[in-house]
Amino acid sequence: MAHTLPALPYAFTALEPHIDASTMEIHSQRHHKAYVDNLNKALTGHADLEAHDIVSLLRNIKSVPEAIRPAVTNNGGGHHNHTLFFSIMAPNAGGDPTGAIGDEIKKHHPDFAHFRETIKQNALTQFGSGWSWLVWDPAAASLKAVKKPNQDSPLMEGQVPLLGIDVWEHAYYLKYQNKRPDYVDAWWNTVCWTKVNELFAAAKAGK
Ligand code: MN
Repeated sequence: MAHTLPALPYAFTALEPHIDASTMEIHSQRHHKAYVDNLNKALTGHADLEAHDIVSLLRNIKSVPEAIRPAVTNNGGGHHNHTLFFSIMAPNAGGDPTGAIGDEIKKHHPDFAHFRETIKQNALTQFGSGWSWLVWDPAAASLKAVKKPNQDSPLMEGQVPLLGIDVWEHAYYLKYQNKRPDYVDAWWNTVCWTKVNELFAAAKAGK
């Protein structure tokens, strides 16, 4: 079963002024599509791996043959990271974390400003391309803020990504050029806490 590019659940213009329409279109229709296409290419001829969904594939990355493991890490990670990224953004979103995820974040941070700053500092100190993540760590039964290079997926280390900001330049350069901090600040206005709560509930249920 080939992996497919999911449709965006909103228009390219929906996240303006925070994320511009050109960035949304190029990011989803070209960058994300390239990860999907190259993942399918890498898996061709590996029927056992083609049977896995993307989450299972990444959780079991160590069982992927070494010859194609880098391609699956980069493109499979890229596919899942972008699917999550586009799904946790929405128009008319943002604000403080709500619900169960809000309560959980409060256990780790004196206030939400401190939480946002933690995610932001990981985004700014990720040298080159990568992601700043909020993950659920099942082993520790705890939230963690982590940064990862390239398209490395938290799933490959047994973590469950709940929220992530893409800090590859392709995610922000058209509008923000070199001003990564401004992009991160604006991005918070797009975060859909309802969706993050869905991911958190599934993660705690072990799904
Ligand atoms: Mn990207």
